[in-house]
Amino acid sequence: MQSDTAAPRPYYPVGILRQDGRFHVLAGAFFLAGERIMELTGEASDRPSRYSVQVGWQEHVETWVPLEDDTSLDSCQVRYMNHSCRPNTRIVDRQVVALRDIGVREELTFDYNTTEWEMAESFPCECGHCGGQRIAGFKILSAEGRQSRANQLPEYLRSRMGQ
Ligand SMILES: [Zn+2]
Repeated sequence: MQSDTAAPRPYYPVGILRQDGRFHVLAGAFFLAGERIMELTGEASDRPSRYSVQVGWQEHVETWVPLEDDTSLDSCQVRYMNHSCRPNTRIVDRQVVALRDIGVREELTFDYNTTEWEMAESFPCECGHCGGQRIAGFKILSAEGRQSRANQLPEYLRSRMGQ
């Protein structure tokens, strides 16, 4: 009897590319808009670090893990995801979710300003879309910058829209 369910995907259908000293996370499969790509795993902390991703008001997931064996790289791929001001994913309930259809080998990015209130380390943006803005978190965005991200925000940032 034929199954009507789709063939299971590999657990982490992404790859990490190192090019010119920078890491990039590439899609290893075609993803549809709204599809979950991978899960954010790691130790929770109440303060941000260089490699943490904020998931709640005082909740940060530490994406850095010591690379001890082949499987440890799989558990920290989000750490290598670059920021973009025109991202193709967002992080929602600790899941990386496609914002639009994404092709194979396309770089996966998210907008750090839609997870972080105040980043441990800011940096000048190299996404190529924003003219090199300093990325430091939602806290320092202009009212316009906040409004343009309104439909991507988790509740802990949406509730601070006017602060
Ligand atoms: Zn940018």
